[in-house]
Order: sequence, then structure tokens, then C-alpha cells
Amino acid sequence: MRFEEIPGLQELKQSLISSYKQNHIAHAQLFNGPAGGGGLAMAMSFATYLLCENKTDSDACGTCSNCQKMDRMIHPDVHFIYPKPSASKSSDYEKIQAETLKKWRVFAKEHTYANIDDWVSYNGYENKNVLISKEDSKNIIRTVSMKSFEGDFKILIIWYPEYMHPAAANGILKVLEEPPTQTIYLLVSYSYESLLATIRSRTQMFNIPPFSEETIQDHLINNRNVQPEVAGKAARMANGSLGKAYYELEQAEGTAYEWFRLWMQYCLKGDYTSMVKTSDEFHGSSKPNQRTQLEFSLALIRDAILSQVEGANLVNRDGAEGEFIRKFGGFASIEKLEAIYNEISSVLNNLGRNASAKIAFLSLSIQCSRVLRA
Ligand SMILES: [Zn+2]
Repeated sequence: MRFEEIPGLQELKQSLISSYKQNHIAHAQLFNGPAGGGGLAMAMSFATYLLCENKTDSDACGTCSNCQKMDRMIHPDVHFIYPKPSASKSSDYEKIQAETLKKWRVFAKEHTYANIDDWVSYNGYENKNVLISKEDSKNIIRTVSMKSFEGDFKILIIWYPEYMHPAAANGILKVLEEPPTQTIYLLVSYSYESLLATIRSRTQMFNIPPFSEETIQDHLINNRNVQPEVAGKAARMANGSLGKAYYELEQAEGTAYEWFRLWMQYCLKGDYTSMVKTSDEFHGSSKPNQRTQLEFSLALIRDAILSQVEGANLVNRDGAEGEFIRKFGGFASIEKLEAIYNEISSVLNNLGRNASAKIAFLSLSIQCSRVLRA
């Protein structure tokens, strides 16, 4: 991960970069900020920056061998410590460690703005107690005592140090106290107050502010191709958390998908009662919502068309949504899908001009029904 991928937080990025340039990197740093904020992303980007062989004044290169290893989360000089279920016997530790590390590599890369609850449900650990254990601290001490493999630095990223068991804290305190070596500890905390005072006092703290609403909205529009209205809504609900914004987005997409699926079902069956009811609902929702819903429908139909084009392989939807799209694409011919696409586009283009959204939507439904049942 590179600094560039994190929206905003310019000041903090700059101060981390200048600490490197001035050879003033604190060997134990605490990134403290709200859950769903940029803490973990910042730690991962800083680690990438430190190890990069061709870094610039503002970021890691993204292409050197160290950057690539960081991108794949397999750099041998970067170690992650995160809460996980404790081993009942110490001989089980290695096994749990190996299992969770595999998942962690995917999780941290794909859900960099997630919180501990997301990690727990990602693993199905709901009934387990997760923590950073005494075995983890032994593992840290072992790791620190080894030489670095490739670069100048060895970096330990500790996610949620507040989940440290008191028995682990002592071991970790010991390594934090050691005179600065080329080992750098990056602690990513979301609840600074609940950390042991002895840990706090041994680290240099960087406060990570929540993302601004505007930053989140721009990020969703520019990096995720989200429609401005949808992005704006997710950003408002997110309360500074990018993790929450992604969640809101998924929810919104889930609802939009479910709505489209039902609508197409009514059209296909020629179920006029339900078509009228759907038109009433459509009429009752706000103009931006109507627009978003139709744009989302167009995207689904476009994907259904692509699912029929051999070798296009452009459809990036999984789960029920992906299955529906393939089925829908398999059921309706490309010509039919194109006809529906054009009908929806034309209603979308005239949304502002139509006197009644209800009448426009109902005629659209009847058109779609005619095409699908032909
Ligand atoms: Zn690089």
C-alpha cells in the first residue's frame, strides 16, 4: 500500500516522510485514531515507504521488489501482530498463527479500514475471545532478535495493541524499551485511553483525524466509480470512517440490487399489480434516489450483456448478485437486454422533464415486460 492510496491526511504523510529524510524516525510509534480511520493504512504505507528501493519525496515507487512484496503482504521484514484466539496449549500456537496469517494478508489488504468486529466476523470468531497473547509477545521477541532479511529495517505492525493481554504487555514493553535499533514498531490503536500508560509513554504518538465527509465522497467517486449522490450519502452516514462508508455502500448496492431483481421478476411475469406498486414506490422516492436506482439498473444490465460476451470477463460481481446477472444474461438475449437498456436510458434522460415519475416508470415497466415476454 502506498501513501497515495490513502485519501487526505497530507500533513501526517509529510511528517512521516520527513522523519525518514531527517533520519529521525521514532523507533516506536503509535498511530491513534477512530475505528474505520486511516491508522492501519498509514502504518502499511509507511512500512512500504521505508523499505522501498526507489522512493521519491512523496511516496514509495510501487514497483520495486520490496514494494511488490509489501503489496502481496509477504515482505519478510514486516511482521504483523493482531488479535486472534489464544491457543489452549502453547504447541497449538504455531498452527493458529499460520492459519490466521493467511487470512490476515487478504483481510488487511482488502479491508484496510475495517475494525476489530469486522476481523472477528471475517474469521467467524464471534464465540471466541481474541487477544494479543503472551505467546505473541514471545514471538515478537524472537522476531526482533533475528537479523533483517533484505533491507535496512525490520518493521512490526501491531494492530489493536489495546487487545494485549497483561502477560503479553510485559514482554512487549521490554522490546519497546530497548535502545533504538533498525527495528521499528508501529502500533495502530483505536482507543488510546485503554492502553497501558507504560506503553503510551514509550511511543511517539501520531493522531489520525477522522476522514472528512468531502474526502470520503471524493474518494468513492474517483477511486470506486461511485455515483456522486450515492457517494455523498455514504459519506454522510460514515461519520469520518472509510470502513463505515464502504459498509453503507454495500448496503445501498444490496438494496438497489434486490429492488431491480424484484422489478424484473414482475415484468417477466407480467404482474401488473406489483408493477403499479413498484411505480408508486419509485414515484415516492427522491429524484436523486430515482436517478441512482436507474443508473444502478443500467450497470446490472450492462454486466448481464457482458456476461454473454465470450472472453469479455469483465463482470466483477460475486455472490447472489453475480449469479443473478449470469442467469439474467443467460435467459434474455443480448437484443432483449439492449432494448431494456435503451428504454431505461431514455427514462433516465427525461427524469427531470417527466411530469409524473409514476407514469414514466409504469410505462417503462410495461415496455420491459413486453420485451421480456416477447
Ligand atoms: Zn518501491
